[in-house]
Amino acid sequence: MRAAQLLIDNSWTDASTGATGTTINPATGEPIGSFAEATAADVDSAVESARRGFESDDWQGMSPDVRGKLLWRIAELIDENAVELAALETLDQGQPTFISTGVSVPLAAQVFRYYAGYTTKIEGKVSPVSIPNQLSYQTRVPLGVTGLITPWNFPLDIAAWKLAPALATGNAAILKPAEQTPLSTAYLVELCVRAGVPSGVVTLLTGGPDVGKALVAHRGVDKVSFTGSTAVGQEIVKAASGDLKRVGLELGGKAPSIVCADADIDAAVLGNLQGALFNTGQACGAFTRFYVHRSKVDEFTSKLVAAADALRIGPGQDPDTVVGPLVSAEHLGRVESYVASGKAEGAELVTGGERVGGELERGFFYRPTVFTEVRDTMTIAREEIFGPVLSVMPFDDMDEVVARANDTDYGLAAVVWTRDLKTAHNLPKRIHAGTIFVNQLPLIDPGSPWGGFGMSGWGREMGEYSIDEFTEPRTVFINLD
Ligand code: NAD
Repeated sequence: MRAAQLLIDNSWTDASTGATGTTINPATGEPIGSFAEATAADVDSAVESARRGFESDDWQGMSPDVRGKLLWRIAELIDENAVELAALETLDQGQPTFISTGVSVPLAAQVFRYYAGYTTKIEGKVSPVSIPNQLSYQTRVPLGVTGLITPWNFPLDIAAWKLAPALATGNAAILKPAEQTPLSTAYLVELCVRAGVPSGVVTLLTGGPDVGKALVAHRGVDKVSFTGSTAVGQEIVKAASGDLKRVGLELGGKAPSIVCADADIDAAVLGNLQGALFNTGQACGAFTRFYVHRSKVDEFTSKLVAAADALRIGPGQDPDTVVGPLVSAEHLGRVESYVASGKAEGAELVTGGERVGGELERGFFYRPTVFTEVRDTMTIAREEIFGPVLSVMPFDDMDEVVARANDTDYGLAAVVWTRDLKTAHNLPKRIHAGTIFVNQLPLIDPGSPWGGFGMSGWGREMGEYSIDEFTEPRTVFINLD
């Protein structure tokens, strides 16, 4: 059994009440570790420590060059501990090894290296004011104490996307991982300590939603950067209104995939399947609504179903596994209820629609599921399922499919499949989403912004956008008269 404690003042400690929660291996349903259930008093101590850390000479006096070296060292430590980190992510989250080893861990290291390079390039501006004999210049200053609240689907990466830019810009950071998957974040925090972050600059609070709520409500927290469900994002906006705390939100999605008549259908089937079932559909950019030109819908559906049925389902530790378990029994129940709603509302279940039995019965496994005869108004076409459930719907013309793709509260990602250069350029311009992929699975790169339109969130992460998210511009006027 592994134990994740709180990290406050660079010391590992139990919760003040000694309370702990349990984290479960989703492939077996068995407990694998415990985490400290932070209390309101622990949140207070964490925020006080983070404030001291933020204001300390060790942190504010650290030159950008040395701060860059610190971030680079964290990246090196992630690489040096890649095997153990990936194993932990697979154990706690259920991620197939090809994802934890091939994506999660290397991407986390890449993000720290990317922002290590930024520390020496956060520049200001001189404004051409019209008032005579005045110099007006701006610098970008850190916000202070930041609360970084993360979900369970890509725990290590999402922590890295927030922590690396928060540190690069000179903030103090309090991480609050999801209660289902705290282990890789605790490991990352340990690596930050080993890399030499000054006391109070990185803090770890584990526990459930109440810990997140206490952080959001805390007057000592200057910014909350949240990734998670849209419903919780809305609660955070309300709770943060008391002190007009800065809030960044990366929320849910319901990505449409538009397969045009001229698309390479085999490539579209392969890419869509990977885009839909990556991490068992537990990805915010997962493709879920498949709009396929009517002339190709039968070919697409039969190939999609055959390919989905052939995917190997199993524990993430098995190197041949493509589809791992869902994260929890609760989430499995949620996916089952969406499938039941699809059937009840008249969609046709073509494959899947059931848990996996036999040797995998005790884990939270669910078969890749394909529905046809789906109407845009059905629950499975409107709500984020966050599981391996795909809906195929025919379309006839471009104006129609654009209107249907955009008929959603979300706007995180979309994908277009076409061999026509003009369509590849013109269709994305009409889609209401933060990122549009063309002939491509969903990709994330630290150099490219990620975030959503509409109810998919506020702001962007990655690239220079994260520098903006974690700084405020400060203007100085100097009288030269
Ligand atoms: P969730 O919203 O239930 O929980 C996320 C985190 O918030 C957890 O750490 C949880 O403890 C905490 N929390 C819960 N209630 C809170 C409250 N009232 N105040 C403060 N913190 C609170 O999300 P989840 O189920 O862990 O993750 C799945 C969701 O995350 C999906 O909707 C998915 O689309 C979204 N997601 C979005 C992105 C993106 O980049 N847009 C990336 C990954 C996941």
